[in-house]
Amino acid sequence: MVGEIRPDELRVDIGRLSRRIDELGQIGRIDGPNGEWGNARLALTDEDRAGRDLVVGWMRDLGLDVRIDAIGNVVATRAGSDPDLAPVMCGSHIDTVGTGGRFDGNLGVLAGLEIVELLDEHGIRTRRPFQVAFFTDEEGSRFAPDMLGSLVFVGGMPLEEALDVTAADDHSRLGDELVRIGYAGPVPCPTATPPHYFVELHIEQGPILEDEGITIGVVEGVQGISWTEVSIEGRSAHAGTTPMRLRRDPAYCAGALATFVRDVTRRLGGDQVGTVGRIDVYPNLVNVVPSRVVVAVDLRNTDDRVLQEAERLLHGYLDDLAADEGVEITTRSLARFEPVTFDAAMVDRVEHVARRLGHSSRRMSSGAGHDAQMLARICPTAMVFTPSVAGLSHNIAEFTEPDDVEAGANVLLQVLLEQLEPAT
Ligand SMILES: [Zn+2]
Repeated sequence: MVGEIRPDELRVDIGRLSRRIDELGQIGRIDGPNGEWGNARLALTDEDRAGRDLVVGWMRDLGLDVRIDAIGNVVATRAGSDPDLAPVMCGSHIDTVGTGGRFDGNLGVLAGLEIVELLDEHGIRTRRPFQVAFFTDEEGSRFAPDMLGSLVFVGGMPLEEALDVTAADDHSRLGDELVRIGYAGPVPCPTATPPHYFVELHIEQGPILEDEGITIGVVEGVQGISWTEVSIEGRSAHAGTTPMRLRRDPAYCAGALATFVRDVTRRLGGDQVGTVGRIDVYPNLVNVVPSRVVVAVDLRNTDDRVLQEAERLLHGYLDDLAADEGVEITTRSLARFEPVTFDAAMVDRVEHVARRLGHSSRRMSSGAGHDAQMLARICPTAMVFTPSVAGLSHNIAEFTEPDDVEAGANVLLQVLLEQLEPAT
């Protein structure tokens, strides 16, 4: 018994949490035609800086010890009564895609701050330190690969290599952008102090929970991701005067490639998904056969063997396509992460807590990549999913009902409290 309430009876203040989500969402706000609104806070832009400043301000207001590492990850610590114990960490990211929502990532970070405020309010001390973190460039839209900050945090990519990554939009160097926005911190990265446990609350970003009327997703793992950038060099030509038989047309190849990606998912079936989400055409004019087209291919599967088969089929197809159309095709891997399975005992705990709080739940794997999959390399890790209305995410219409946000945050709270060891 601590204070006036038992720790297992603690519940988040959904009003306070929602206000923080909405306030952070004002930065880089995008309004849609039907009242929907979301965000553009691409990694290390001025909007990202403003979002970071707001959240770091909140962290300081809560009396947390805020540390910034060399890749710009921010870790805020609430002291534990036993400073020798490894901290329990929660967190996510606050960068967004160019047309993102206000829940993706932000929810997991701001729910952590809500939990800090709640513990303070009730005078609850914990034996272990409690950390709330946000990681740099989770989305990867501006700097590939995605989850870059957490990858460097766990030692999965050398810091210098990460600092030299260039932006897809203006080709600026990541390290320079970090300095420019004031988030090249002094703390060494990778981290020297791995957490005891890491838990990430996140929206599902897909339609399964809503479709089945379930409140909590108990995430067992994250599917493998393979991003390939395909550059197709052809021959620029006049659209009216060049006979079809004499063309070496990279735009045609890009279209054929998109069709192939769909076909390959049909052929492999199961969990295989494939997307062509970016096509850059040069010079991108109505009456010119393009000289060059760059296509990004995104392949994912929970089974790494099948994912490797998809990659093999892709490369075989590109060889054939280059020969048939007389174009030159080169590929570059932008990201390649194997599927991740979360710690079984942690997954059980999430399920147990969801049940204890009276929420319906189901086990599932994540279709999207998350910082938690990187943290899983250095400590036991779990994720909690909440439903996304209509399964929408990476879309300004992304929305999660307040009741579901509340349920997810309470599951996060109780899972964390079990590990934090509230002082008695
Ligand atoms: Zn996210």
